[in-house]
Amino acid sequence: MNYISTRGQAPELGFEAAMMTGLARDGGLYVPSEIPQMSAGDIAGLAGLSYEEAAFRIMRPFVGDAFDDRTFRGLIDSAYRGFDHPARAPLKQLGPNQFLLELFHGPTLAFKDFAMQLIGQLFQAALTRSGERITIVGATSGDTGSAAIEAFRGLPNVDVFILFPSGRVSEVQRRQMTTPSEDNVHALAVKGDFDDCQARLKEMFADDAFRDGVRLAGVNSINWARVLAQVVYYFTAAVSLGAPHRRVDFTVPTGNFGDIFAGYIARRMGLPIGRLYAATNHNDVVNRALKSGIYQKEQVAPSISPSMDIQVASNFERALFEAYDRDGRAVALLMEDLKAHDGFKISQGANEALTEVFGSGMTLESATLERIRRTRTETGELLCPHTAVGVDVAERKAEPGVPMVTLATAHPAKFPDAVEEATGIRPPLPSRMADLYDRAERVTEADNDLGALQSIIRDRISA
Ligand SMILES: *Cc1c(COP(=O)(O)O)cnc(C)c1O
Repeated sequence: MNYISTRGQAPELGFEAAMMTGLARDGGLYVPSEIPQMSAGDIAGLAGLSYEEAAFRIMRPFVGDAFDDRTFRGLIDSAYRGFDHPARAPLKQLGPNQFLLELFHGPTLAFKDFAMQLIGQLFQAALTRSGERITIVGATSGDTGSAAIEAFRGLPNVDVFILFPSGRVSEVQRRQMTTPSEDNVHALAVKGDFDDCQARLKEMFADDAFRDGVRLAGVNSINWARVLAQVVYYFTAAVSLGAPHRRVDFTVPTGNFGDIFAGYIARRMGLPIGRLYAATNHNDVVNRALKSGIYQKEQVAPSISPSMDIQVASNFERALFEAYDRDGRAVALLMEDLKAHDGFKISQGANEALTEVFGSGMTLESATLERIRRTRTETGELLCPHTAVGVDVAERKAEPGVPMVTLATAHPAKFPDAVEEATGIRPPLPSRMADLYDRAERVTEADNDLGALQSIIRDRISA
């Protein structure tokens, strides 16, 4: 299996190289050269399997000869061993035909752990084999950073630097990034917003001398291996609800469009997903793009669902690539427009292809709080604010007779202030991290400046 860039100008790579590289050299994102198919029989055969075995069967064709079967199985088992629920991604019923897919039972309480724990294992196996040393740099709106640090802390041959927007992440998110004591962990609080962090990261990848000098590797949601890991739970959830014999819809709290794009891949592989709804907060660039055909970036306005406070949804590029029938030149032109004019117009044909699969909805802050409160009253469940945005949109989009699954992307205790404001209840952290508020923090304040960030990174890895 080979991987090609969404902008059509970078070399094709195998799975391992695409994973280690992150962003392609032409600025594009790697996607598989073809999408493997699962037959109805293959999908039916997933019923009753452990999460790990299902994950092996679904991901295997994408990995090619990068890992042999026994090794790959072992890495998957290790990745999900630290989850505190035996189903890994349990499904809960909220109402008639309304379901919640709980993706917060991993070590940092958000869905990012599904991909990051696996990537940690895959990177470690690849580096042990090659004897190389790498520098991982990630930008985060909160949850990616903590998940990456948790996956890479203490590993030999890896330094991990996380850029997060100073003052714009929740206290739990910040502490998960600043309290690990391992020397290879570096939390950088950048004076800017998430889009600034992501832009500086992209500039680092575009700087070949820096990129090669520090052996830069990326684990942001642009990394194909992350998308791949997230494909799995769409299958396990849909199969629990009757797939391949029954259609299932999903609503996905959306920022960078990575999680929902994994659902698109599952659908392309043959899973009978009807529609995929992107649920956004007031930072609704994706919602507006899907409704109007015009992608227009605006200023990020902070919200109570900070992991979705984004105006550049990187993974949307992958969806565009498919909607434009894999025309890398067309995508490259759109991305030039985005850079020059903060936006672009999607062609009519591509827009039709997108909206055939993707729908969208937006939920404002007050309705999010109201949704947290109502769900608590009606079902006893406490929702994190991101999940509440999803459940709110899901209720508007659900069709009679079609199960609707909302992805519960984080544990309510990760965002206790919003949950308490809505319900009066302050959700406690799971006991394994109960001392988070007492641990010492270690963080470097950094200017929103490429040169300054690069010199911090060079200094630290040579120290
Ligand atoms: C990252 C994140 C999202 C958004 O996911 P994308 O893949 O960026 O669209 C939603 N909710 C939570 C809790 C997250 O951490």
